[in-house]
Amino acid sequence: MRSLVLALSLALLGCPATHRYPQLIKRESAPAPVTIFRDVRVFTSTGTTALEHQDVRVDDGRITAIAPTGTDVTGARVIEGAGKTLIPGYVDFHVHLTGSPAPPWAVAWPDEAHNARALLASGITSAMDAGGELEKLKALWKSQGEASWLGPRFWYSGQIVSLKDGYPTSMVNILYPWPANLAADQRFAGPISTEVEAIAAVDWRMHNGAHHIKLAIASVPLNAQTMPPELVKATVTRAHEKGAKAVAHIDTAVHALRAARAGVDALMHGIHLGELSATDAAELKAANLVVSPTLVVFDRAEKLLEFRFEPTEMEKRLYPASFLTPFTPEVNRQQTLDPKLLEWLGKLKADHDKRLAAVKTLYDAGVPILAGSDASGSIGCLAGGAFLDELRLLSEAGIPNADVLRAATVLPARFIAGDAADFGTIEPGKRADLVLLDGNPLDDITVTSKLVTVMQGGAVIEKVE
Ligand SMILES: [Zn+2]
Repeated sequence: MRSLVLALSLALLGCPATHRYPQLIKRESAPAPVTIFRDVRVFTSTGTTALEHQDVRVDDGRITAIAPTGTDVTGARVIEGAGKTLIPGYVDFHVHLTGSPAPPWAVAWPDEAHNARALLASGITSAMDAGGELEKLKALWKSQGEASWLGPRFWYSGQIVSLKDGYPTSMVNILYPWPANLAADQRFAGPISTEVEAIAAVDWRMHNGAHHIKLAIASVPLNAQTMPPELVKATVTRAHEKGAKAVAHIDTAVHALRAARAGVDALMHGIHLGELSATDAAELKAANLVVSPTLVVFDRAEKLLEFRFEPTEMEKRLYPASFLTPFTPEVNRQQTLDPKLLEWLGKLKADHDKRLAAVKTLYDAGVPILAGSDASGSIGCLAGGAFLDELRLLSEAGIPNADVLRAATVLPARFIAGDAADFGTIEPGKRADLVLLDGNPLDDITVTSKLVTVMQGGAVIEKVE
């Protein structure tokens, strides 16, 4: 049945664009048993300052020592670090490996392998998948153990637990014609109407290896029905009973509070419609949750609305020109968008300043801010590039650079794997997931995109031209 829907969709849409995605990277075939990053600035992510002129030693895939430079490098592969900064591998808190960032006027079916490679090529050595095809994610997750896997280590939720006919179904129905909408919806939404269905939805995901449960409490388009408090509560409670964290897609302060009051552990977007008061921020802080603003989602939506989308230099390397062309102003300008979608985009644009202010309000209230890109889950959120752009936007919102770096490393790592996470910091005993940057990101946030070396589990990820 599903393949019939797919076939019909293909027929109706015309053939979705086919792209030849670049290989981008390969893992070095024989990692050196010992590597030393010599005379490097180290931002360990355990605090907010950097150590200068250090030697960082990696043995058999693990960090074993951090010491002032001048250590014995006999027999080691040396990577010169003078003038550069070593940080933990990035952790993207919000990706969709089974999604595509293509615009609806140039539908491209998802390429999971390219999504994964683009993330890793951008220094993202770990990631949390925030919604997608459970069966496919389960298979991908198993393939992580194989040498052929070229992507971040990841954790997944499966389809988003959502109100029947609410978001994301309500949005998919606007973006795609029938029956393509049915195929797209099956990939991302897991509709429920009752508490019994909420419990069954959680159980089915957990039975299939899910690591967390994602739910949606949002109005897209603006008048769409949202999941009522009792269904939110039933979903979150069941997730917790099963030992999983619950993460929620929210849009307004009202929906953020609904999530918080039900015990949600993470908000997967910031408050991007309307205002966030200091009082509400204090309640979110008291609820002990974390927030991933995904400012890049709204930044790119605004740019497409105004025909001024321009991929970053990194994105031009990660994606073929055929994929990027539909985003150009010339092609973008020719599209007619659904009035309901335009209304939502207009409101997003109108609330631009409030959205940035909400991030700072949350930060000032002491709510942990985590970096997530919505890679391949939102139009224009190109895998890898969107994450690096998110770091720039968090800085623009007023988050100090050191906390942007922590948002991109240790904080998501601890959310995913607890205080004992073996990644997300540079400390003896941790996995050698490392990124070497050209410059000092504490002085200049754009340095976070200047990747010199990416190492995952002690192996250098080499560029393929
Ligand atoms: Zn998402």
